[in-house]
Amino acid sequence: MARYTGPKCRRCRQVGIKLFLKGIRCTTKCPLDNAKPFPPGQHGKSNIGKKSEYGRQQREKQKMRYMFGMNEKQFRLMFEKASKKTGVTGDTLLQLLERRLDNVIYRAGFASSRDQAKQYVNHGLFKVNGRNVDMPSFLVKPNDKFEFKASAKKSKIFENLKNLKIRPPRWIKVDVVKGGGEIIDLPRKEDFEKAVAVQSIVEFYSK
Ligand code: SF4
Repeated sequence: MARYTGPKCRRCRQVGIKLFLKGIRCTTKCPLDNAKPFPPGQHGKSNIGKKSEYGRQQREKQKMRYMFGMNEKQFRLMFEKASKKTGVTGDTLLQLLERRLDNVIYRAGFASSRDQAKQYVNHGLFKVNGRNVDMPSFLVKPNDKFEFKASAKKSKIFENLKNLKIRPPRWIKVDVVKGGGEIIDLPRKEDFEKAVAVQSIVEFYSK
């Protein structure tokens, strides 16, 4: 399934909330603040507020999928993986999503959006536990250490890090000077940055 390359704001408008998919470029001119606070498309305006139970569940799933920049197949596979593990499926799904390397780079503050973090990982800028990793879907675990590669530390990207506000979540320890960090705990549901009705996603896939 192809990767979505259309306007990022369209994704936010589809689900009706700010997902900050453009990172620091979201600070100005957000269409949800003014001109277009309704879904895109010909029937966007007339569809406001008209959502069936199925439609609401689907929207929650789309929110999460857009946030992590995953296609339908990748997201479903992640859900299936979560549902095979012991524990509450919704919580496990959140945990698996948070553990993706692209998300960790974003949450550590080394990229201004998940999309940018995904590009950095794809371009091979990072090492995990001393080994090159260029798979955004790589899942980190407690005690894993991640770091910019030596060559990447000479780049403009690394130089610009000092301009970013670094506020990592509880489960990631960051060393900005070294350009790396460590996973100190598993992420929990309460660590998630946005309110998503994860149970609706479970119900969506359980039909
Ligand atoms: Fe666009 Fe960012 Fe606003 Fe989303 S939050 S609609 S990506 S400007």
